[in-house]
Amino acid sequence: MPLITPDIQQHVPLADKNWFKTGGAAEYYAAPTTAAEFSNALMFAQQQKLPVTLIGQGANILVSDAGISGLVVRPSLNDIFFSQLDDTNMLATAQAGVDMHELIEQCLAHGALGLEEFSGIPGTVGGSVFINIHYFEFLLSNFLVAATVIHAQTGQILEVNRDWFNFGYNYSTLHEKQHYLIDATFKLKHAADATEVAYARGRRKEIIRHRVARYPNSGTCGSFFRNFFPHEVTLESQGKKLIYVAYYLDKLGVKGALAVGGAGVSYQHANMLVNHGTATSTDLIALARTMQQKVYDAYGIMPQPECRLLGFSEYPLLT
Ligand SMILES: Cc1cc2nc3c(=O)[nH]c(=O)nc-3n(C[C@H](O)[C@H](O)[C@H](O)COP(=O)(O)OP(=O)(O)OC[C@H]3O[C@@H](n4cnc5c(N)ncnc54)[C@H](O)[C@@H]3O)c2cc1C
Repeated sequence: MPLITPDIQQHVPLADKNWFKTGGAAEYYAAPTTAAEFSNALMFAQQQKLPVTLIGQGANILVSDAGISGLVVRPSLNDIFFSQLDDTNMLATAQAGVDMHELIEQCLAHGALGLEEFSGIPGTVGGSVFINIHYFEFLLSNFLVAATVIHAQTGQILEVNRDWFNFGYNYSTLHEKQHYLIDATFKLKHAADATEVAYARGRRKEIIRHRVARYPNSGTCGSFFRNFFPHEVTLESQGKKLIYVAYYLDKLGVKGALAVGGAGVSYQHANMLVNHGTATSTDLIALARTMQQKVYDAYGIMPQPECRLLGFSEYPLLT
């Protein structure tokens, strides 16, 4: 791995930097530890006319077997700051590279409550804000009040508020790839006493226990396909549109049954693809396409990915 500049490396394998454990190498790679280093990396890409791809912990990406051309940036800005907002609320500011598990633990240690609802969801703050992580009725955007972002081309740093993100289900302005997240500030309830913190810790434990029993937690990106929007489906149950893509996949008997090469559909969850150890990204794509075709043939609707597909020269799934 020869060094181009002190901060940029070449031909860095990405299989050990994503949860599927598949895919090729980054042509160029940077893991900036400060906003200034982040800006320098973007300027390098600008000068060399390289496309830029951000990654976090790789919990929601599938990297092409050919790798990713251009510069891959994996922010390693890992600080967390707390401050008191008023009598009942605290602010927690976490940089883009902070692991969500670490953030939740630190919040509980400071008596800052709310983010424990996202216990057990892997990823960094950057990746989590990007997709607006969700668990049942909780969305990360319910807590975010401010953030710092960097402009992709100019390296200019901007302070923004929640509205700037235009958050939706699986969506934030960061999808437009004009800006990348440097840090995010969350407004959290300040625990009144130790009992409230103990209750939140108990809830965290219970959510993790529930998740471990229900979902695979290695060799996967979590839900591969996003749920349908109500206007995309016609099937209803008790007056409500059936939007859950896993419902349709489950009906088709794919769970634990459908496989391509080393990739298979989890036996625990019909919408989770798993690398059983020897899968390539090509296997995972072939499996995902088969799942799409099955749902389309049976119900006339085409599942679309929640997982971000990185480094593919052409869109690899069915449209
Ligand atoms: C076992 C498992 C369970 C999961 N369960 C859930 C769940 O319940 N709910 C849920 O919402 N998600 C779930 N996920 C998905 C995943 O945890 C989230 O999407 C997570 O936020 C990904 O974070 P990451 O750091 O790994 O981002 P990555 O997967 O590395 O990247 C995801 C996207 O974020 C972008 N990105 C990363 N950092 C930045 C940045 N600093 N600025 C701009 N863009 C950036 C990347 O370009 C990419 O497009 C699950 C995943 C797994 C593996």
